[in-house]
Amino acid sequence: MNASVDTIKAELKTRLKSLFSRARTKRGNRLLVHEIVSIQVISAALIGALAIAGLYWGGQWILQDNYGRWALQWTEELNELGSPLYLADDTEALIRLESYVERYPEIARVAYFDARGTAIISVGKTNDTEPVANLSARALHDAIAVVGNKEPYLMSKGILEPQRFEILAPLWKESISEDDLFDFDPSVVDSAERTELLGFVSINLDFVLFHDRLVDNIESAILVLLVLLMISALYGRYVLSKALKAISDLQEPIRELAKGNLSVKFEPAEHREIAEIVEALESTASALSARDAELLRLANHDSLTGLYNRRRFLEVLRHEITSVMRSGRDSALLFVDLDQFKYINDACGHAAGDRLIRKVADELSRSVRRDDTVARFGGDEFVVLLPHTDLAGARSTAETILANMRRMAHMEDERVFHVHCSIGVTMLSGTNLQQDELINQADIACREAKSGGRNRLHIFEPSADAEQQASAYIGWVNRLRNALDYDGFELRFQPINSISTGETAHHEVLIRLRGDDGKLILPDAFLPSAVRFGLMSEIDFWMIRHVAMAYAEESKSNPRLKLAINLSANAFEDDNLTAYIKKTFAEFGVRPSSIIIEITESLAIRRLAHVDQQIKSLRELGCEFALDDFGTGYSSFSYLQKLRFDYIKIDGSFVQDLPDNPVDQKMIKMIAEIGREAGMKTVAEYVRNAETFSILGELGVDLAQGFFIGRPAKRPKAKSAPISLTSRRIKLTASQTNLKLR
Ligand code: GH3
Ligand code: MG
Repeated sequence: MNASVDTIKAELKTRLKSLFSRARTKRGNRLLVHEIVSIQVISAALIGALAIAGLYWGGQWILQDNYGRWALQWTEELNELGSPLYLADDTEALIRLESYVERYPEIARVAYFDARGTAIISVGKTNDTEPVANLSARALHDAIAVVGNKEPYLMSKGILEPQRFEILAPLWKESISEDDLFDFDPSVVDSAERTELLGFVSINLDFVLFHDRLVDNIESAILVLLVLLMISALYGRYVLSKALKAISDLQEPIRELAKGNLSVKFEPAEHREIAEIVEALESTASALSARDAELLRLANHDSLTGLYNRRRFLEVLRHEITSVMRSGRDSALLFVDLDQFKYINDACGHAAGDRLIRKVADELSRSVRRDDTVARFGGDEFVVLLPHTDLAGARSTAETILANMRRMAHMEDERVFHVHCSIGVTMLSGTNLQQDELINQADIACREAKSGGRNRLHIFEPSADAEQQASAYIGWVNRLRNALDYDGFELRFQPINSISTGETAHHEVLIRLRGDDGKLILPDAFLPSAVRFGLMSEIDFWMIRHVAMAYAEESKSNPRLKLAINLSANAFEDDNLTAYIKKTFAEFGVRPSSIIIEITESLAIRRLAHVDQQIKSLRELGCEFALDDFGTGYSSFSYLQKLRFDYIKIDGSFVQDLPDNPVDQKMIKMIAEIGREAGMKTVAEYVRNAETFSILGELGVDLAQGFFIGRPAKRPKAKSAPISLTSRRIKLTASQTNLKLR
């Protein structure tokens, strides 16, 4: 056990070591100067060594080459000097010989021999005292053989001492047979010449001196070379360090640059290469600062309008809050939301919507003071901060904005649009200085302006009222959540009757919430909160399941039962919708052809690809579709032809005053005609009296819904009683104030 722990420890240690050493190598501790100087010195030393070797061998070679020539010269000269010695005991000749030997330091000894090789005389350097031996027979023979040659001497080199030579040359005398100068015939010279061998001269040469001198010189050359190398290494180091210093000087600014300090300054460099690096770094720094500025701009501005974005605006607001705290002077915050902007998008496309948002942004900026801040908060929402303003000033600015927006006309495809806005105002004053709270207040006020009819301003009042409203929203979330989890919703069924036969064709299923006090709450009260807090699609899915359950129950006694249910855009945004409907219908045995799905005009017009896909597959399943609230939006009749619906539900606003409104009558007539042409049945909502009912019949509408026909009930009517003229009359009086409630 212990052994294995130790092995692991050892393994760990080696790995760590190798990791550290790798890390060290990675960091790069080698100095460039040292490397370059070393390379320089090594290559210079190599070249120097080669040069010296060349010098040595060259010197040797030249010496060798010269030996032959010198040998010839010496033999000739010694021949001349020595000849008298053979003739007579010439002391003068001896002296000349001695001085000759003295003159050439390389001549160690000169010895003369007679023709038989016996030593006659030898002259040497004072320290050479050895007696000269007679010539061997072989030497004698060889020396005689060179007589008359071009190189009449023998040269032998000491094997152990290559700088010591011995030259052995025969001495001879030449005579011409006829000494008659006048009859001299050059053609017979050779044959007439006679050679008489006098003896031999041997010269011992010692070039050790030369060699030593050469070696001395080479040693001095090496010394000089070393000194030069040293000097050049030092100089090279100095020059390189100086050149590289410019590079190492860049380290600090580059480090600063890497840290993000873009105002860093680079020293101008002397060398072109480094100057180019510096230039490149400077342009990198300036490109980075340009990008920085661009990023900052993008981070703070909205790309569509160029106004401050939400992030930047919140910073400005925070700053303003501090300034209000310090100065005690009030400021105002405006929340501006465009009215019905979705329809512009739907009718003209997103690009046109964008153009309009840009135009609105310009208009807003023009409508406020120079010191005011306008920002795009998101979508079609803008915020305006008005520093140093009282409530009257804020109101006046909001009114200016409203007036300017009313005047503003936007042209798109030769159509003129007017876009209005609703404005919520809140004041930064006293203790009301909580950033999130302020935004919330302005938003609430803006929604108040919307519910007050749009195209107006509303000033937030920090009353219990508003607080209640805010907390009411939160309260709704909890109640809706509970209702979803514990089936707190209830279904109601409202009949829709055929106008011609008076028979109930189908029922619309409506949702109610059971309140704590047991009373039913209408959807108008809770659906906006459901949408706002993202619970809408869950409510739709709840509806689908409970309608299927109700169908399973009621269809037992009423096999012709047909139900219409409302599904919101949120349900269609959920990709599981179709699968869920299929599964649920199969589970409870719902015939899809008995179900009509009502969708709103705006969802239908948007024609989002995935919504279209879901509608298509539900249609294929057998469900029918109804277009709800027709006539309220911007949709035109051309849309009706493009979209395939089984029913068109004419919005209640056209129906409620029908008897007194000829325009509404014309409108409904037209819708009914187009519906008929397109093979769609028309349904009129809000039918509150017999008069309306009968007018609708005359206008060609197929079906009617409303209190006159039947109130929403707990169960669908099993048997529909045709509405007779008498019952119509009775209902006429009873249903004056009825409204259609979902
Ligand atoms: P309301 O009067 O209640 O404000 O109705 P609205 O139609 O204006 O609805 P709302 O303010 O809730 O929705 C804003 C719409 O603005 C939603 C979206 O279709 C559209 N929108 C949001 N951002 C953009 C954008 O950047 N470009 C365009 N073209 N449209 C946008
Ligand atoms: Mg809007």
